[in-house]
Amino acid sequence: MVRGMRRTEISYHHLMARRLLEAPSELMLSRDESIARHTYMRLGGPAAYFGEPADISILRHVTDWAISNQLPLRVIGGGSNILIADEGIIAVVISLRAACADLRFEGSRVCVGGGVMLPALARAAAERNLGGLEFAIGIPGTVGGALQTNAGIGDGRAIGELVEAVDVFDKGAVRTLDRSSLAFHYRRTSLSGSGAIVLNATLQLVPRPQAECREEMARLLQGRQRTQPTAERNAGSIFRNPANDTAGRLIEAAGGKGLMFGGAQVSELHANFIVHDGTATASDVASLMLEIQTRVASASGTTLVPEVEWWGDGEPPLVFRQ
Ligand SMILES: Cc1cc2nc3c(=O)[nH]c(=O)nc-3n(C[C@H](O)[C@H](O)[C@H](O)COP(=O)(O)OP(=O)(O)OC[C@H]3O[C@@H](n4cnc5c(N)ncnc54)[C@H](O)[C@@H]3O)c2cc1C
Repeated sequence: MVRGMRRTEISYHHLMARRLLEAPSELMLSRDESIARHTYMRLGGPAAYFGEPADISILRHVTDWAISNQLPLRVIGGGSNILIADEGIIAVVISLRAACADLRFEGSRVCVGGGVMLPALARAAAERNLGGLEFAIGIPGTVGGALQTNAGIGDGRAIGELVEAVDVFDKGAVRTLDRSSLAFHYRRTSLSGSGAIVLNATLQLVPRPQAECREEMARLLQGRQRTQPTAERNAGSIFRNPANDTAGRLIEAAGGKGLMFGGAQVSELHANFIVHDGTATASDVASLMLEIQTRVASASGTTLVPEVEWWGDGEPPLVFRQ
């Protein structure tokens, strides 16, 4: 029955997508692009439109065109914290990999484009004997994505601590937000859900010998390899840690390790990671998440909240309806 329902949804979405306009060629948007390949999980259906604007002026035209055609606009970074519906999405999805790729060091500051990947940034800083970003070496997201969730690691280090200012494209204008107008919390910031597109960020780093930075980054990566399923497709932590506990501990205590739904499985190495064997669908992952959430709620009374974000049209799967 579930499979039949999915087929109906797919044909509905394809019908809708076909009714959509061709985008003007100068916007360089492709139609029905598979965005699974732009995600770390490699799951999910097509986007009605996808583009990598070459610069901010094309980005401006793309956003104007999306607004005038009443199409939602979504920015994809490393695609490492999103789960995209199997039936795809009717939206204009853009990547800032080309338009926001600058990396400029000035003393111990770096001005970095929102499309730059965190591990590349951490390595470039280390080469200039600058520390502060070592924690980000194993986070496969962009600066723009990291500023939505205040990406960080278990010891409390997070990108928000380093931020001096952020340039955003918001409601048709480029604005600079200084630190005092931004708020950073655990896996949440004032930028999340604001609709502002992060173009650049200025980060304040600290002088540190390159060898020390490299040594710490190597240690952090080894730690991940020991404790996380780094060799398999996953989306990082699936649920947020509740106050004074960890989602991994709660899932393991509820007997969740190894649990499967379709091609998706709770990692045997770390219970807050869902891995898949290439046959899974996004729907399998969402169903497995719901099963985990239900088991943990009944075992501990805690309702886990997803850390990954759902991208789809219409009603999201139950586990994402908070
Ligand atoms: C193996 C693995 C390990 C991970 N480890 C960690 C970890 O240790 N700590 C941690 O915090 N997270 C971790 N994550 C989760 C993820 O990497 C982070 O949340 C990351 O910051 C997401 O960035 P992204 O560019 O991939 O964002 P995406 O997944 O592409 O997008 C996430 C959200 O950010 C928005 N967004 C992206 N770019 C922009 C922009 N320029 N402007 C406005 N909005 C934007 C998107 O629209 C979306 O809403 C891990 C994920 C994986 C797969």
